[in-house]
Amino acid sequence: MPAARKNERLIDRLPPVRGRLAENAALAPVTWFRAGGPAEVLFRPADAEDLARFLAGKPAEVPVTALGVGSNLLVRDGGVPGVVIRLGRAFARVARVGAPEAATLEAGAGALDLNVALAALAEGIGGLEFLSGVPGTIGGALRMNAGAYGREMKDVVIEAEALDRRGNRERLTLAALGFSYRHSAVPEDRIFLSARLRGSPAAPAEIEARMAEIKAAREATQPLRTRTGGSTFTNPPGARAWELIEKAGCRGLRRGGAMVSEKHCNFLINTGAASAADIEALGEEVRRRVFAATGVVLEWEIRRIGVPASGLAPAATGEEGR
Ligand SMILES: Cc1cc2nc3c(=O)[nH]c(=O)nc-3n(C[C@H](O)[C@H](O)[C@H](O)COP(=O)(O)OP(=O)(O)OC[C@H]3O[C@@H](n4cnc5c(N)ncnc54)[C@H](O)[C@@H]3O)c2cc1C
Repeated sequence: MPAARKNERLIDRLPPVRGRLAENAALAPVTWFRAGGPAEVLFRPADAEDLARFLAGKPAEVPVTALGVGSNLLVRDGGVPGVVIRLGRAFARVARVGAPEAATLEAGAGALDLNVALAALAEGIGGLEFLSGVPGTIGGALRMNAGAYGREMKDVVIEAEALDRRGNRERLTLAALGFSYRHSAVPEDRIFLSARLRGSPAAPAEIEARMAEIKAAREATQPLRTRTGGSTFTNPPGARAWELIEKAGCRGLRRGGAMVSEKHCNFLINTGAASAADIEALGEEVRRRVFAATGVVLEWEIRRIGVPASGLAPAATGEEGR
């Protein structure tokens, strides 16, 4: 069900903005899977003030979903009811802050993790190299407590800034962010604006060498130049999802245009024309087979949003990822 009332367009009920509002905007081109339906309305705010005013002025019942670069998202084929918010260049600033010995960066939520890692390299700040291996934004990294190669956001975040559902700014300490494995306890309706990250002084050559190691490891193990959402399932306690999937005989398994990667079997791939339903059904089939073979229930790490093509349940912007 769209969030607009019958015979009334949602876009006509939204407050004026300085940024851009687009109706029925395709999301497939802005997600890694390149699949799924449109946003009922896509909003690209001009800046944080524009976003805050929009949140304060929009009808309270209209759902809002934040989008990074869609590297951990499956948008269902019926699209996302309500407003999807995409943070653009105004939210992508990365700058050194604080005393020189503090080795601290402030990064906008729309900044690519790779650009934050490169800024850290330029500033001689070590400890943020892992971000070069995560293909998302800082907003997505905060939501997911993104991590790679032994470090995660929890290890480097000092604090973050967010807007609540009415557009009020909040400062969130590390404790308030409530990070655990690929999860933040911050309520789903918060939109992250920025994060303050701590590293430690390091020689650029060392940082560069670590980033090169990470790049080589990713090239060797992940299907990088494909339409994928990265790791599909979280690792269950004491086990690795890919090993369980392999054991259950799912490597290379197909459903419509979706396939379990041959290179890394915790990655699902859109081989060309997969629907989001193909990808989700393949993931569910993998879960069934892994449970039958090993007794372990895999949990989705990829976030599935929106409604199926039929437009019926699950509920609008239902987020059943956890
Ligand atoms: C090839 C590949 C490799 C990957 N490797 C890793 C890895 O090593 N480690 C790892 O942790 N992840 C990995 N991922 C997954 C993904 O890159 C991370 O989860 C990343 O943090 C998602 O960021 P994003 O900007 O793409 O968020 P999206 O996928 O757009 O969104 C993910 C979630 O974050 C929320 N979100 C996004 N921005 C905001 C915001 N500003 N405020 C509030 N909520 C927001 C969305 O609503 C959604 O719930 C990989 C993905 C791919 C495709």
